[in-house]
Amino acid sequence: EEPHQRKHIIMLPFMAQGHLIPFLELAHNILHHNPNLTITIVNTRLNINYLRSAIANRPSPPSQIHLKPLPFNSSDHGLPPNSENTDGLSPSQIPKLIKAIVALEAPFRQFISEVVSGEGSSMVCIISDVLMGWAIRVAKSFGVFSYSFTTSGAYGSAATVSISQNLPHRNMADGGTYDEFHVPSFPRSCRFKITELTQQIRDADGEDEFSRFFKSNVSLTHESKGLLCNTVEEIEPLGLEVLQNLRKIHVWCVGPLIPPKMLTKNSGSDTSSGVTSQRSGKQLGIQPEKCFEWLDSHASRTVLYISFGSENTISETQMIELAKGLEESKKPFIWVVRPPFGFDPKGDFRPEWLPFGFVDRVKKQGLVVYGWAPQLEILCHRSIGAFLSHCGWNSVLESLSQGVPLIGWPLRAEQGYNAKMLVEEMGVCVVIARWVDSSITKEEVSKVINVVLDKGGKGDLMRKKATKAGELIRAAVEINNGSSYNALNDFLARCFSI
Ligand code: UDP
Repeated sequence: EEPHQRKHIIMLPFMAQGHLIPFLELAHNILHHNPNLTITIVNTRLNINYLRSAIANRPSPPSQIHLKPLPFNSSDHGLPPNSENTDGLSPSQIPKLIKAIVALEAPFRQFISEVVSGEGSSMVCIISDVLMGWAIRVAKSFGVFSYSFTTSGAYGSAATVSISQNLPHRNMADGGTYDEFHVPSFPRSCRFKITELTQQIRDADGEDEFSRFFKSNVSLTHESKGLLCNTVEEIEPLGLEVLQNLRKIHVWCVGPLIPPKMLTKNSGSDTSSGVTSQRSGKQLGIQPEKCFEWLDSHASRTVLYISFGSENTISETQMIELAKGLEESKKPFIWVVRPPFGFDPKGDFRPEWLPFGFVDRVKKQGLVVYGWAPQLEILCHRSIGAFLSHCGWNSVLESLSQGVPLIGWPLRAEQGYNAKMLVEEMGVCVVIARWVDSSITKEEVSKVINVVLDKGGKGDLMRKKATKAGELIRAAVEINNGSSYNALNDFLARCFSI
């Protein structure tokens, strides 16, 4: 290797909010470690525009991240025009987008070819999302170093890989399924339940589209030189061990890839942390000042924050019971509401989706936010005591970084495994419901909320454990000292020469 050679890292995230953001944070972190590297993030035009505004909105001095849009026409794939991100798509449309992403392979190949031939002596390395396995094929054909990046946690990734490959819940002999089963590579003591699996994986038979997609991505990932994971090794020791055993390649834990402001010593103690949710370029459903003023008027660790992430929502009947249970619990809350499952996610919110008179009755008790909330600032506020979440991995990391325990309601993908890990391994979560089809009563809702928020009970222990996790997370990013900091250093020292 010649010292003057330019080094270029090309990143390819999957087209979802929860993937673009950690990729962008990873790019920032890499440049922080080594400002002499060139980084280009590649994606479709609309996602590139989104990344551009996210970079511009970042408070710290702008980093030199290059952005490369690739041509993509969603209408060619049976999707509405300009559907380039899972955000705003209905659950039935998301698989279409996942299928459509292979259309990016040809323009991606073209771009890599230009970079490789145009830059002469520069060294190129690709970091691609685990859902974009074909990028590894492209890298190999050019003899370029390639790495996979999972924006999920270690336990969630490991469970996803092992379960989708082995289908351990299926009783092949009688075509039925087991209620409880062991997942290969996990310890014998760790039993999984059929209810912890999404319908999609319950139905998978190894030959269906979903299974084939996963299998091909898993085997392509194993052809890359290593795996980056958005986690902290100290908070997920079991998950990391299983993931490392399953994946035959080296795993670097480089998380949490969340805005650095959430990781400074004093976030969580002051009113508004200066963290900016505006990175999302979304229309907020509430004025942030109004939100903070309201939070300021509450005692420390007393408010429940409820959100199901950027692309999920619950059913109509679940929404009504959740609302009634919230009211019955009498606990202060901020609830981000969206049209329920089955309705246009971008459509207006109809009053009949909440109990009659609900919004008026809870005026003093809580804030109902339509669409999108400044989640980071909310979680950083000292008055937040718990987070009712779908357990999307970004939400989990954001919550734990602030020492906030969770009430889990997984809705899709690996969220059920995340929730299981948070309950069984970390003790920072209680699961209240699963998926859009589980029945739930207002009594259960109110009971769980009270258990987690009331002082002197189980909630105190959960908060203590979440605080501990927050400390581990902060320690992991410490310069020259933390495990995630060192892992990224190690990756950068080796990624062009493995
Ligand atoms: N988010 C937000 N405001 C909202 C809902 C979500 O800022 O009203 C952000 C949240 O902070 C997180 C991301 O959107 O960074 C959601 O990612 P996650 O992995 O939790 O869930 P996903 O949307 O991928 O299911």
